[in-house]
Amino acid sequence: MDTMELRQCPAHNSPLKYTRISSKCDACYGDHYDNKQGYKCNFCEFCFHEDCVNVKIPARHKHPLNLIKVHDQREVKGEFKMRCITFTCHACGLCSAEYPCLCLQCCFIIHRACIFLPRVIKINRHDHRISHVSSLGPGKWICRVCYEHVNGEYGAYSCFVCSYVFHSKCATTCLTIWDRRELEGVPEEDEKDESKPFIVIDQNLIKHFSHEHNHKSSLSSSRLEEPREHCYACTLPFYAELCYKCTQCDFILHDACANLPLKKRHQISPQYLLYVTKTREPEQSVKVVTWLLCFFYVARVIVVATIYVSHALLYPHW
Ligand SMILES: [Zn+2]
Ligand SMILES: [Zn+2]
Ligand SMILES: [Zn+2]
Ligand SMILES: [Zn+2]
Ligand SMILES: [Zn+2]
Ligand SMILES: [Zn+2]
Ligand SMILES: [Zn+2]
Ligand SMILES: [Zn+2]
Repeated sequence: MDTMELRQCPAHNSPLKYTRISSKCDACYGDHYDNKQGYKCNFCEFCFHEDCVNVKIPARHKHPLNLIKVHDQREVKGEFKMRCITFTCHACGLCSAEYPCLCLQCCFIIHRACIFLPRVIKINRHDHRISHVSSLGPGKWICRVCYEHVNGEYGAYSCFVCSYVFHSKCATTCLTIWDRRELEGVPEEDEKDESKPFIVIDQNLIKHFSHEHNHKSSLSSSRLEEPREHCYACTLPFYAELCYKCTQCDFILHDACANLPLKKRHQISPQYLLYVTKTREPEQSVKVVTWLLCFFYVARVIVVATIYVSHALLYPHW
């Protein structure tokens, strides 16, 4: 393939005019009908954004990248027509005919738009951060968003904690999946601390966010003749298991319920779901409860209105 002859229409070999463009850019396929400054052919719709013909493309790739031409001319009944040449992008693994950027030294080829793929992100389909890797390597990889095969030879997102993988496009295209925050360089420790539901006072003594007194870790009674205590979070009874009892009143939580994180990722929202002790309005809580009943994770907690509610759910969306 030839390196792009910048500012020239591949079909008409005519210089492109520097003007405002309002149609789809042939380099990034961005649908910007916003009159951005760019270059346009006088004879056809071929055009580029000004930014997209800039050869100083910011990229993490170790060598310089060049915009290359993927249109060829072909003669059909005496007329020259443009023909698209398809390629597979090394960053997202998708085959297409957009204008790619190419590294001439190592034959690395990438969509113009994929140059800007974020390196580290969090998506609502997974609890850990995921990172973009240049290839996954051999193996049977399944995307955890669309559950389709992921080709290990191309770039994708991967979780370094549990080896879950995601197509580059599946993880980043949909606004409801990724919150558009790049987390490269953002320390992860802060997020872990924010999710802690209690602070440790002493050995076996904690202060849970949902109650004003301290809780002592103990074993619940196993004697059948005694009335069963019920967890204040999930309402289920105790059967000789680890629990947290209030040191001043009868408030008690299962060990598992006391450890539920304050923030939780779920596919119903790109934002975190929050662990709250009650909803603001009873009418909303009914709607939230019926909606969230489908999800096992929250089912344990919703019964006494100790539920996860997303920021979005607290405001009328329905
Ligand atoms: Zn463009
Ligand atoms: Zn043209
Ligand atoms: Zn791509
Ligand atoms: Zn290279
Ligand atoms: Zn996918
Ligand atoms: Zn993971
Ligand atoms: Zn419980
Ligand atoms: Zn208490």
